[in-house]
Amino acid sequence: MSDARADQRRVLVVSLGGTIAMTAAADGGVAPALTAGELLAAVPGLAETGIAVESVDFRRLPGASLGFEDLTAVAELLRKRMAVGLDGVVVVQGTDTIEETAYLLDLHHAGSRPVVVTGAMRNPTMAGADGPANLLAAVRTAASSAACDLGCLVVLADEVHAARRVRKTHSTAGSTFHSPNGGPLGYLVEGQPRFLSCLPYRVVVPAPVGDHPFRVPLVTVTFGDDGLLVDALGERVDGAVIAGFGAGHVPASLVPALGDLAGRVPVVLASRTGAGSVLTATYGFPGSERDLLGRGLIAAGFLDAYKARILLRTLLAAGADRTMIEAAFAVEGGYAPPDRWPWAGSGNASKGR
Ligand code: ASP
Repeated sequence: MSDARADQRRVLVVSLGGTIAMTAAADGGVAPALTAGELLAAVPGLAETGIAVESVDFRRLPGASLGFEDLTAVAELLRKRMAVGLDGVVVVQGTDTIEETAYLLDLHHAGSRPVVVTGAMRNPTMAGADGPANLLAAVRTAASSAACDLGCLVVLADEVHAARRVRKTHSTAGSTFHSPNGGPLGYLVEGQPRFLSCLPYRVVVPAPVGDHPFRVPLVTVTFGDDGLLVDALGERVDGAVIAGFGAGHVPASLVPALGDLAGRVPVVLASRTGAGSVLTATYGFPGSERDLLGRGLIAAGFLDAYKARILLRTLLAAGADRTMIEAAFAVEGGYAPPDRWPWAGSGNASKGR
C-alpha cells in the first residue's frame, strides 16, 4: 500500500486474473500468473498521477472460471473497503466475462464512488499489450469525482461504458467493448475521463440471502429449434432466460413448453440480437412476444440476454418473489420508472449532466 497524504486520491485495485495478468505457462500458451502489484509496477506514468494505489490479489483465474461465489465475495470486499475512505475501486479480470461480472457488481454497489472493471485483450508477452494503458485509465477513472454516481463502469481502450449496457463484441480486437444501446458514457482524453452522457437512474439489489446455488440457464432459440434444450430444463431450474429471435419470438412448437415452464419458475424473454429491446405489443402469431408474455414470460426490455440472466439470478438470490422480479425487469429493462424498483430507497436517480 502507498502512504496516502490526507488530500491524496485513494484507489484500491483488486485482481482476479485474466489475460492482463497472463505470462507464458510451462506447458504452452499463457495463463494467469501476475500479482496485482506486478501489474501496477508495469504501468508507466502511474506514480505521476499522484493517486495512492493499494492492491489485493483476490483470484488468479481466467474470466471463464469465475463464478457467482467469487463475484459475490468481491462485492462484499468492495462494500467493506469502500466504507473506509477509498475514492474508488478497480477490478482487474479476464475480458471474457466482464459484461456479466461488471453488471453483477453494479447491481450490488450501493455507494456513489466508482467501481471500474478493466482487463486486456493482448497479454503482457505480446507487442502492444494493452493492459498497462487500460489499468492506468481505469485507476484515473476510479479516482475521478466525475465518475461518481454512475455505478460500475467498464474502462478499456480509453472508453467508459456503463456495466448495464456494455458487451464484448469481438473475440480478439482491442476495441471489442461496445454499448449497443446508447453508446459509451464517456472517453479518456489526455488521461482524464470525460463524460458525454449518463444513465437515467441506478438501482441496487440487496446481498444474497443464504448461499443456495440458484440455477438460471440461458437458452438461445435457433432456426428449426426442436425444443430439446427447453424440454431439458424440466424441473431442474430456478428460473430461465430465453433469447428469442428478433423482438422476442420463438417457433410455435416451443410455446407450450415455455408456457408450462413460466407457470413454475420465472422465465425472462430477451432478444438474441444483443441490441434493442424485446417488443411487448406488436406481433400476434403463436410464438410472438405478445403470445409469450401473455403466457407469463417476463420481458427483458433493453437488457440483453446475458444481463437478463445476471439480473434474474441476483434477484432470486436476494429473495425476490415473482411480483418483485416483474417490477425489477420493468425498471432495468427501461419500461418503468425507477420508483417501481422493488426495494425502497434503491431506485435512485443518477446525477444529471
Ligand atoms: N480468456 C481471457 C480471460 O477472460 C480473455 C481476456 O482476459 O481477455 O481470462
